[in-house]
Formats: sequence, structure tokens, C-alpha cells
Amino acid sequence: MALPFEELDFGPPDYREMLPATLAKNYGQWKYHELLEPGVFKHVSKTGDEVYTIRTGAPKFIASSTIRQLCDIADKYCESSLRFTSRHSIDWIVPKKEDVDKLKEEVEGLGLPVGGTGDSMHSIVQCTGWVHCHTPATDSPGIAKAVCDELFEEFKADNLPSRLNIAVSGCLNMCGAVHCSDIALLGMHRVPPQVDDDLVKACEIPSLIAACPTYAIKPKMMKNPDGSITKSITINGEKCMYCGICYGLCPGLPLADAKNDGISIWVGGKVSNTRSGPAFSRLAIPFIPNNPPRWPETIAMVKKIVEAWKADARPHERMGEWIERIGWPAFFKKTGIDFTEKHIDDYIFNIRDMNVGTRVRGSDL
Ligand code: SF4
Repeated sequence: MALPFEELDFGPPDYREMLPATLAKNYGQWKYHELLEPGVFKHVSKTGDEVYTIRTGAPKFIASSTIRQLCDIADKYCESSLRFTSRHSIDWIVPKKEDVDKLKEEVEGLGLPVGGTGDSMHSIVQCTGWVHCHTPATDSPGIAKAVCDELFEEFKADNLPSRLNIAVSGCLNMCGAVHCSDIALLGMHRVPPQVDDDLVKACEIPSLIAACPTYAIKPKMMKNPDGSITKSITINGEKCMYCGICYGLCPGLPLADAKNDGISIWVGGKVSNTRSGPAFSRLAIPFIPNNPPRWPETIAMVKKIVEAWKADARPHERMGEWIERIGWPAFFKKTGIDFTEKHIDDYIFNIRDMNVGTRVRGSDL
């Protein structure tokens, strides 16, 4: 006999068992909410209860001692609960109005800025980049920090046309959610993995060939002077999409290349369906060389895009909605970005696969 779903499910526990007391008491009864100031919301319930939500930025790599400090603050003011948002911010939910300023003072004392709500720059999302991963073309946390430092005032204020979501991903596998952000910084490889035959011969070659999503890897036999055969692989550079899967399986195929790796900038993506539907980010700048530790060229371009949008967008107009209204030629003109042949999307199944693109009369597609 089949077990009920509750007994089969071994995923995360039911969130309703973990709600802070005031949220559990008022579950399903919230009447309205308002933004009191940048970073501070007030929610009012039909029962007359109120809660105040203070949002702060948070470190992406966090020490256990810092987590203990955060928990002490949550114990003091937030009914022993706190919430990390999907953009790595922290929502502190405070039932007592008189505790709002006390909590703000304590979290700001720890260096956590209050903001990232409403029409502001929300926390920047990024992958781990060079720190942990073997596929990135750039240092995602390093760029995120440099961009955040430059646009920091936009996190704490509420004076952009709409929310601004920035994301950084070290490679096209997109752990940094760059496919749907207002501004997306994406690490770019431009050459396929370099094959080191001495290391590859120790790897499991059939698995390597089978793992490549574009069938770019083929077996290779090399005859040695003593007549024996060494097995390795070749990579068809035309087919390789620089995903790094093969390097994950075999250390003889390093993908990182200091000279050819860099960053591209994409714009206009969004997840929400408020006003207009969700949209993929589109290419704005195909390549900027890596320039650690502060990436000045990348930051200059991000600032240019933000300034043009801020000056020209209508109230509540997301980056992509602004571009759709003024048109891509105007976007390139207002931002001073060059339009190149790299901006022409020649993926012929775009319309079928992604439901995007433009049909031209007479097209075979
Ligand atoms: Fe294939 Fe990806 Fe390796 Fe290129 S990087 S050869 S696409 S597995």
C-alpha cells in the first residue's frame, strides 16, 4: 500500500512549524504592508497585530562566529527567527515598534547596511567564482564587491526608477542567476580546454566523451616510440561551449586561460511578471578583460548603464522595460556602448526554444 505523501517526503521540514510566533498567529490574515523608509517595511494584520521587517545586506561567505552574533540579535528582537532571502539579504522581523531602531543600531554596528528594498539596488547575487569552482572565467565575489562599493548609496536610498537586480556568474553555467537580472555580469571563456595528454591518459576517456553536451570530444590514439599506444582525446573548438564539464571529470583539461578569459555584460532580464512578463537578459557588451582586484573597466560600464537608465526611465520602469520602450538602438546610443556583430544572435532555434527573437517576413523559421 502506498504511503501518504507526508511520510514519503524527506525534503525540508514544513515551514509552518518554524514561523515566528507573531507570523504563526496571523497566518493568512495580513491586511496590508507599506515601506516606511528604505529597508524597513510594516505589515498590519486583521487582528490588529503589526510586524516590522528590517532588511540588511549580508556577507556571502560568513563565519560561524558572525552567525552566532546574528542569532543573538534575532533572539533579542525577532522571536528567535531570521530569514535569509534569495538575494543573500537578511530579513529581521520585529513585532515591537520600539525595537526597530534598536535592531537597526545593532546590525549597523556589525557592518550590515539597512536597505535593498523598493526602488533601490537590491543585494548583488553571485556564484563562488575562483574561490571554489573549477569552471569560472572570473572572480565573481570580487566583482560583486567592487560593483557594490561603487553603487552602495543606491542600496541604502530609494531613488531609482525601479528595483535594480545585479548578478554575477563566473561562467555560462550561471550559478549566479545572470539569465534574468537587470544587469548581469557573466564570466566568458573564449578558448576550449587545453588538452594535457599526460594527465588525460589517466582519466576515464569513455565517460569524458559521453559527458560533453555538444559532442565536441573525440578519442585520440598516439603511437609511442616503443610501439605502444597512448589514449587521449581531441576537442573540436567549433563545437565546444566552454561549459567545463570535462574539466570536472579530468584534471588534464583545464579551462581557465588568463589571457582569453573575461567578462560580458547583459541587461534587461527579470523574473517577476509585474507589468511585463519575465525576460531573459540580453547582450550589451560581449567582452571586457579581467582586471582584478577592482575591475575598473567593468564598473565604469555598469555605472554608465545605471546612469542612463536612471536619467531616462519612467517611474517603476525596470531596465528591460525601459529598453523595450526606447528601443535597442537608443539604448546603445544613450549608454555609449558600441553595437558589434557579436550582438547579432545567430542561434537559429531561438524562436522555437526560447520563445524570443524577431521573425522577418520571408524567413524560413
Ligand atoms: Fe565539451 Fe564542455 Fe569540455 Fe567544451 S568544455 S569540450 S563543451 S565538456
